[in-house]
Amino acid sequence: MAFIPVNEPALNGNEKKYLLECLETGWISSEGPFVDRFEAEFAQRVGRQHGVAVANGSAALDVAVAALGLGPGDEVILPTFTIISCAAAIVRAGAKPVVVDVDPITWNMDVGQLEACITPRTRAIMVVHIYGLPVDMEPLLAIAQRHHLAIIEDAAEMHGQTYRGQPCGSFGDISTFSFYANKHITTGEGGMVLTDDAELAERCRSLRNLCFQPQQRFVHEELGWNFRLGNLQAALGVAQLEQLDGFIARKRAIGQRYTEGLVGVQGLQLPLAATDYAENVYWVYGLVLDDGVPFDAIEAMQRLKAKGVGTRPFFWPMHEQPVFRKMGLFEGEKHPVAERIARRGFYLPSGLALTDGQIDQVITTVREVMA
Ligand SMILES: *Cc1c(COP(=O)(O)O)cnc(C)c1O
Repeated sequence: MAFIPVNEPALNGNEKKYLLECLETGWISSEGPFVDRFEAEFAQRVGRQHGVAVANGSAALDVAVAALGLGPGDEVILPTFTIISCAAAIVRAGAKPVVVDVDPITWNMDVGQLEACITPRTRAIMVVHIYGLPVDMEPLLAIAQRHHLAIIEDAAEMHGQTYRGQPCGSFGDISTFSFYANKHITTGEGGMVLTDDAELAERCRSLRNLCFQPQQRFVHEELGWNFRLGNLQAALGVAQLEQLDGFIARKRAIGQRYTEGLVGVQGLQLPLAATDYAENVYWVYGLVLDDGVPFDAIEAMQRLKAKGVGTRPFFWPMHEQPVFRKMGLFEGEKHPVAERIARRGFYLPSGLALTDGQIDQVITTVREVMA
């Protein structure tokens, strides 16, 4: 049997047609017309006023943190269970990341722990929706309002997902997305910052483009980055966005098929199908090994790989990152849920090109490994 990779994207819509259009018109840089179109159409889909396309989802977070003016002396609360990009953006800006543990069932930020982390220096909460279910936004927004905190919403894994019917990515003062190859819609590499605030959007545009000034182009009042997205990538984005509803339906079908095939397997915690605020979109199909299982995620992934199934480990908690420990951050902190799922959790092939036959083969293989 052929190896089943952890992710393979689906590129069967207008991708080829729009890419050819770029080549035939000569528009390949960020000046091309697909960039504006992708920004406008994606922002509209998420219900936001402004979209600013950037090079990737990590860059989107850097731009968001900088645009809000967060820096030395400021604290930003975020979940410890997330990708490095989130904490890195805060640390690079000179601000201090303050992490909270996650819920053992949804794997999302434990909103109940938020308020205890707030100090007079707290300026913002970085919300990160994890793996397929959104963060419980209602209580979080109430806390943010009570303490006058800005919200950065990292919706990199949530294109097309909703929280109580409202699009993920529509909650932050600034929201960010990634279009990496394993996201619901992809441009290969790419990202976007979304906001309803025209001034913030303008700051993001400037930060993305080296803070060139309209009057005196090569005179700089501030340091930005070259985080521009090219027209070729935006062309892919426009084509992918046309297919988003179908992609989301397929993701849910993949998740449901996995659950039907794996329910009842001893020693496995499966993803939650739904909460009262959202239906799981299964960006990735995660598994957590029960404590009674005599091997950890690394061993499980090795056994699956030997049998032709690609996997990825869960995120490693921010408070356990050597790079941050060396900076003196998170000293002595313990967040037991994140520590446990980092060691016991991994995810199965979850890409949009996955066939039902492949899913069934993965199920059979997982059952063999767990037996
Ligand atoms: C993928 C991802 C990112 C980073 O996006 P890149 O485009 O890979 O830089 C940021 N946050 C979350 C939650 C992600 O899943």
